[in-house]
Amino acid sequence: MTAAILAFLFGLLIGSFLNVCIYRWPRDLSVVRPRSHCPSCEKPIAWYDNIPLLSYALLGGRCRQCRARIPIRYPAVELLTGLCFFYFVWTLGPALPAYKMCALAALLLALLFCDLEERILPDELTLGGALAGLAFAFFVPTPDSTAQSLSWLAGVNLTGRADWLAESVLGAVLPAALLWAGGWLYEKVRHREGLGFGDVKFMVMVGSFLGINGALLTLLLGSLAGSILGYAYIWIARKDPKTYELPLGTFLSAAALVVAMAAPRLRA
Ligand SMILES: [Zn+2]
Repeated sequence: MTAAILAFLFGLLIGSFLNVCIYRWPRDLSVVRPRSHCPSCEKPIAWYDNIPLLSYALLGGRCRQCRARIPIRYPAVELLTGLCFFYFVWTLGPALPAYKMCALAALLLALLFCDLEERILPDELTLGGALAGLAFAFFVPTPDSTAQSLSWLAGVNLTGRADWLAESVLGAVLPAALLWAGGWLYEKVRHREGLGFGDVKFMVMVGSFLGINGALLTLLLGSLAGSILGYAYIWIARKDPKTYELPLGTFLSAAALVVAMAAPRLRA
């Protein structure tokens, strides 16, 4: 319990940093410099006005200097990151498998809001995240056994690290290739761009963490939710379906979070 509460507090801090990434990476700005400042009055934000959740509540959601509204996304990302970190350490215990899932949750939350606000899935998160996923596969089992079954058919017995890494690579490559082929076909048939390459790179990242089954489930859940909720929104808000760009990455991120939380083999 103590470990899970510590994870929650650490998650709040990571969430606070994710907010900086969500604002700066889609704008090609550095996340290191300059220090945090209000985008409205450009005044630097003091450390005591930058405490996750607390400062937002104490300031009533407004900048201390110019009283401009602070988007609700700031405390929301902090709280969601804290809760995800709590959940994974609570269910998996304070060990590497939980830290791997915490890293995935942080990547997914950042991507969810980058795509929602700017329709951009930054390479730092997708490709950088895929490298992290492959690196984790050296130390933590990937929650899948497809590569093992396939290699068994070929007469090879994959075990331990070799298997974890093979599951991660297979998960990174195949679902992403499937999505890319789908987008290519859509473009050929409908003569308009169906999806960005960012979505393909996003699937490489998710597969490297969750393996092929988790990635395929993410693809299925995310595109289903995206079609239903996306078109409901277009209809309710009377958007033009020809020009409205659906934030597919947002739906895929939410789906991947659900899949990561439900992955039953992780608990074995
Ligand atoms: Zn301000």
